[in-house]
Amino acid sequence: MTIQTLARAAVQAVEPYKSARRLGSSGDIWLNANESPFDNEYVIQSNRLNRYGTCQPEALIQAYAQYAGVSTEQVLTSRGADEGIELLIRAFCEPGQDDILYCPPTYGMYRVSSATADVSSREVPLTPDWQLDLPAIAENLAGVKLCFLCSPNNPTGNLNRRKDIVALLEMTQGKSLVVVDEAYIDFCPEASTVDLLQDFPHLVILRTLSKAFALAGLRCGFTLSSPDVIEVLLKVIAPYPVPTPVAAIAQEALTTSGVQRMQQQVSTLNENKARLQQELSQSEAITVFAGEGNYLLFRCPDSESVFQACWDQGVTLRKTPAVPECLRVSIGSWEECEAALKVIRQALSAQGAVK
Ligand SMILES: *Cc1c(COP(=O)(O)O)cnc(C)c1O
Repeated sequence: MTIQTLARAAVQAVEPYKSARRLGSSGDIWLNANESPFDNEYVIQSNRLNRYGTCQPEALIQAYAQYAGVSTEQVLTSRGADEGIELLIRAFCEPGQDDILYCPPTYGMYRVSSATADVSSREVPLTPDWQLDLPAIAENLAGVKLCFLCSPNNPTGNLNRRKDIVALLEMTQGKSLVVVDEAYIDFCPEASTVDLLQDFPHLVILRTLSKAFALAGLRCGFTLSSPDVIEVLLKVIAPYPVPTPVAAIAQEALTTSGVQRMQQQVSTLNENKARLQQELSQSEAITVFAGEGNYLLFRCPDSESVFQACWDQGVTLRKTPAVPECLRVSIGSWEECEAALKVIRQALSAQGAVK
């Protein structure tokens, strides 16, 4: 018996998530993981690390509740939004029995987290304009405990229509939770569904400090829901899930001045995005899709060779196998965007695709 075969059958079958960092990058211009280009400095205190922290550091929960406009009983913090996904599946889905549902093309971790838990996933593809296919979802809801939506959606960049989310919430009442992944919502805060928490206790919202708050390396995320859902999640989370230095840095990021800095950086990135979108659109060969997050999806001829040409020039983009002929570019500093623009144009003109 090999070590591999000792693993649970479900785990043996898992195809791990291909994170940007696992796939690697080339050169210095990393536009493949939707990270922020802003490297904000924090003072890290390293005393009192002999003591455990609290399970849910009160000041941190309070700070995020205030930022999100909810009460503290509606907030759970975890190791990134990714851990939120995993906790939901572990807490709400009976392995081998209950299913999750999600709508590809979308974020890959819903599939991976459910697969490792031996929970099957039902894929109900988005419509051709990347909106929810509500009739198809309705037909597939039996036995589904969690419906994952992603808005703004990664990698397509568009929002789900609010009335569709409301329709799904009405359709699922008393049957399953609706999880709206709002990892990128700080780039378009007016589109949040957080106000719907009042009316729908089975709505769950995932948030993170990894993107707009420029803290991907910190590993800090939040789950917002009704107190009942948060209470269930608290049963399955590890006893000391939040490292003390993480809580301290996250709290600093969530002070009034921290939030203001984030908002300024968001407006810079949104400006860079608009500029990059406009510039890319000038090439007839490229179709750029409007994006609400800190990334743009674009279609171009032979995207594989464009990806490779950029890679060879030290610019790393993200391939999007679920959206054929497309690439995703994260919004960096304007210098980084310009560098990407240059190599993308070069690659296309080398193909003869551009006049
Ligand atoms: C980046 C991302 C996450 C993961 O966030 P972490 O807090 O870094 O774990 C979750 N959902 C989506 C859609 C993302 O793009």
